[in-house]
Amino acid sequence: MELMSRPHPNISIAQEIEYDQDNLYPHEWIHGPDLPLRSQFEVFSIGTVGRGIRSKAGFSRGSVIARFTGQLMSSVLQHTLQVSPTSHVYDPYFIGLLTHSCAPNCILEMSQLELIALSDIAEGDTLTIDYALTEDALFRQFPCGCGSSNCRHWVTGRRETINEEGKAYLSNMATPS
Ligand SMILES: [Zn+2]
Repeated sequence: MELMSRPHPNISIAQEIEYDQDNLYPHEWIHGPDLPLRSQFEVFSIGTVGRGIRSKAGFSRGSVIARFTGQLMSSVLQHTLQVSPTSHVYDPYFIGLLTHSCAPNCILEMSQLELIALSDIAEGDTLTIDYALTEDALFRQFPCGCGSSNCRHWVTGRRETINEEGKAYLSNMATPS
């Protein structure tokens, strides 16, 4: 009987890799450095359907806020952002949750997969991008109430025209009953 010389059956537990629970992305999506952390960003709910990303840290204008990742797709879906006319990155964990603003505080650098601060960002600020800067056509056009002085009130992709719903919405805005 040599029981004591056998490896303890529980010894491997202590040696298991500690996965980074702080990451906003699930473990299988983490392939590089500088991806967003829960200690830096918070996902919050907007109304009953939407979500947004709030910063838990300050970032200075021009700095890289985080790198992002995702799955490459050939079509536009909710939570995709356009990389090229024929490819889109699907990221339902970080950049796909960014709120639109017509005067955003962030911009996506799609060639580098980086989110850059367009203005100084304070702790608690909602991170926003202008969807029309990356998207030729949106998954769905929508009304905007971002409150900026140059708000377009109806948001489309950069290469599509305002749809019938948008025309009706804008004409109702112009002539309130
Ligand atoms: Zn707006």
